[in-house]
Amino acid sequence: MVRRRIFVTGIVQGVGFRPFVYSLAARHSLTGMVGNTSSGVVIEIQGEATSAFIDALRNSPPPLAVIDSIAIEEVDAKDELAFMIVDSQAQPQASTPISPDIAVCADCLREMLDPADRRYRYPFINCTNCGPRFTIIQDIPYDRPFTTMRAFPMCDQCEAEYHDPSNRRFHAQPNACPACGPQVSFDSLTGDGAVQAAIDALNSGNIVAIKGIGGFHLACDATSDEAVRKLRDRKGRGAKPFALMAKDLDRVRGYAHVSAQEAHLLTSKERPIVLLRTRDNPEISPAVAPGNKYLGFLLPYTPLHHLLLGERPLVMTSGNLSDEPIVKDNDEALSRLATLADVFLLHNRDIHVVCDDSVTRVFETRELPIRRSRGYSPMPVKLTHPGPTVLAVGGELKSTFCLTRDDNAYLSQHIGDMENLETLGAFEHAFAHFRSLFRAEPTRVVCDLHPDYLSSRWAAGYAKENNLPLTRVQHHHAHLASVMAEHGRDGRAIGVIFDGTGYGTDGAIWGGEILCGGLQGFERVMHLKSVPLPGGDASIKRPLRMAFAHLWSAGIEWDAKFSPVELRILRRQLETGINCVPTSSMGRLFDAFAALIGVRETVSYEAQATIEMEAMCEGVSVDRGYRFLLEKGVFDPGPLFKSALEDLRRGVPRPEIAASFHHAAAHLVLSCCVAARERTGINTVGLSGGVFQNTTLLKLVTEALSRQEFEILTHRKVPPNDGGLALGQAAIGRLTLGAE
Ligand SMILES: [Zn+2]
Ligand SMILES: [Zn+2]
Repeated sequence: MVRRRIFVTGIVQGVGFRPFVYSLAARHSLTGMVGNTSSGVVIEIQGEATSAFIDALRNSPPPLAVIDSIAIEEVDAKDELAFMIVDSQAQPQASTPISPDIAVCADCLREMLDPADRRYRYPFINCTNCGPRFTIIQDIPYDRPFTTMRAFPMCDQCEAEYHDPSNRRFHAQPNACPACGPQVSFDSLTGDGAVQAAIDALNSGNIVAIKGIGGFHLACDATSDEAVRKLRDRKGRGAKPFALMAKDLDRVRGYAHVSAQEAHLLTSKERPIVLLRTRDNPEISPAVAPGNKYLGFLLPYTPLHHLLLGERPLVMTSGNLSDEPIVKDNDEALSRLATLADVFLLHNRDIHVVCDDSVTRVFETRELPIRRSRGYSPMPVKLTHPGPTVLAVGGELKSTFCLTRDDNAYLSQHIGDMENLETLGAFEHAFAHFRSLFRAEPTRVVCDLHPDYLSSRWAAGYAKENNLPLTRVQHHHAHLASVMAEHGRDGRAIGVIFDGTGYGTDGAIWGGEILCGGLQGFERVMHLKSVPLPGGDASIKRPLRMAFAHLWSAGIEWDAKFSPVELRILRRQLETGINCVPTSSMGRLFDAFAALIGVRETVSYEAQATIEMEAMCEGVSVDRGYRFLLEKGVFDPGPLFKSALEDLRRGVPRPEIAASFHHAAAHLVLSCCVAARERTGINTVGLSGGVFQNTTLLKLVTEALSRQEFEILTHRKVPPNDGGLALGQAAIGRLTLGAE
């Protein structure tokens, strides 16, 4: 008789792995055991068909599992009659990936809508194939006592399901029913009464704070102009678009164009917000996404969403004040959201860690992440080889951190803009959670080169306190490393990093950079001509000033629409250099150009002018031949501005001018890459930085580079914006021995 012991690693807990193994063993008439360990799953099988069992495990694992490795050893046969699921063995130092939260499955949904089912209209229905994971897990191994479901002892019926190997809820840790599980509440109402009250409140134009899986949403009827405007005012959100939730895919198709890939993402188990090009739909309030041709749509992902959604789509935005972390606890919501929400739909299952919705879009046929959070985090990005445990703290905006262990890079959920103590608090809480979940004690810390980032200051303090080496990584080098790391590259590449802002090695603000290098180091081979950024942040919020600075720097006269006072201040700043920071930022150049051609003079959220300019020239393929002047490693947009101004005076349609600008940028990338290849022999180009969220530009650039047979790396797993920065920092930090 053969007995084999099998160790399986990967995402194998909380995904129905043990029940799957149990029924597989039964099918092959094997005895033995299966159990969770802190590093994965251990299986022992004994009988005739052990090889067939192993083949099946390898070739058709349960749908949510991601197997990294299977190790098999022969062990002595035992005298036994059955196959058993054994208690979990906690091993203090071991580590295993944890499943993200997963959208409710079709089976659970069917039961929830079946009047004969005991979970009819029960908003916490789940099974081994779906439901919350990451946000309710407090510790490993993944077992109910280590989750926030600990507070809900199972009733007899649920308990019976939990122990019945033929049941879909066999060892489903969040298993619950109306008799024993969590409940929703709305004032003094509970259960269906509470859900109905929330629906009524939404229908009558109220803003409802809804407790979800990873935090609170603020919801309102997206077809009510009044409700949407009220929410926008209260959140202090300017013109930044709101995400929308529609009941099903067909309804989304009524509002926006949905390709096959976009439909796939919308209905995936991760259920991200997908940016879609809108149709003309008078039904949705224009206040949802003013001036934006794209809307972020997501489909219901919790059972409660399915109960709440009716004919009309809902605005579903994070439950927070702008710039603050998302709210997760009931008490916190009742106080911090009091001025934002009219009413509250609460529930009594604790959220252990916050996790915002993810945002993604499709570029050609692949996913281009914009915000990697719920449904994705804490799924690791695989690194090429094991290395030291490193904590990389990210940058400032759209902050995430990265904790590595072995060959796994665990990227955190979206933390937010690290500009205030609330966000820092959320960062610290999330880091403590990751450290304990993955049993990962950092042996070094990595941060951005910018000395004043809150994240850099925190990292310096943490490194000092724990006597760890600290590595400071230049911002755009981290971007290059990020796109290389997600493609498993550790050689050299040409990095085309078009970004908002990042601290350069010379103390200036960089952001239009051609780098050559890899994880070990980099050389800045070309860059956008530096221009003064008059008044710093004031110019970022008012791209018209940025445009003026560019034209001033190019020696071009421009009768811009400034008040005499503003004009005088600007000229003075530029002439004296007082309160001016030099910047080579490509993001700022895009903003400036958009302002120049009259897209928008002032912005209320990052890259607004650029986004609107991209929307303006969508589908316009005119290239009027604007060109940067590339000389001695510096690309100068002066000639391009001259041509554009001339075209404006001649009355050339602005969409053509905007399209020509995109063409000029793509042409520039090609020229730079050809020059860099000639000099270095490197044929691989990594495209990163926030500007590459612009798919119009990305398309032109990748087409141009492909024609010259470059190998192109674009982001598919982490965002090109600063949300992906921590991965690059970590990849670099693992290799350097750098200390302060
Ligand atoms: Zn289910
Ligand atoms: Zn129950």
